[in-house]
Amino acid sequence: MVKTDPAELLRAHGLSVTPQRLAVLKAVEHCPHGSADAIADDVRERLGTVSVQTIYDALTTFVDRGLIRRIEPAGSPALFDPRAGDGHHHAICRSCRSVQDVESPITPLPFLPHASRPDFVVDEAEVVYWGFCAACRAASDTPAEDNTPGLRARPRKPRPHSL
Ligand SMILES: [Zn+2]
Ligand SMILES: [Zn+2]
Repeated sequence: MVKTDPAELLRAHGLSVTPQRLAVLKAVEHCPHGSADAIADDVRERLGTVSVQTIYDALTTFVDRGLIRRIEPAGSPALFDPRAGDGHHHAICRSCRSVQDVESPITPLPFLPHASRPDFVVDEAEVVYWGFCAACRAASDTPAEDNTPGLRARPRKPRPHSL
């Protein structure tokens, strides 16, 4: 990702620069794929008291203007991604819910078989790969507690060591 000055980024998208917006934008970069709650915590560390509404408003504005991207994985709150507009995908761990970027081999959009939907105009495609991250797989090699709530919520595939 090319690092852009947050104030410049706001101006480039026609937004006035306020301390709150700057803090929210920095927080999204600081906790990529963070929930609104995680971002709010980060903003408050920078600015002290900021209302939840102010933070939500800034996030919504940024998503609408294309500064950041919102992803909504099943069973998860909305997550905010500082990488917008590049069509990258995500790999999400069923156990710890960590989100990792996956570079899309085809940009900006994965191929939509035209024959099956000739009348459909695509403007966005989202691919989520569900599985288990390296850390969780390493942990599952040793006997481990098996009470991760995120896993129970998606029982489609058993955890590797739970059988
Ligand atoms: Zn994991
Ligand atoms: Zn991402």
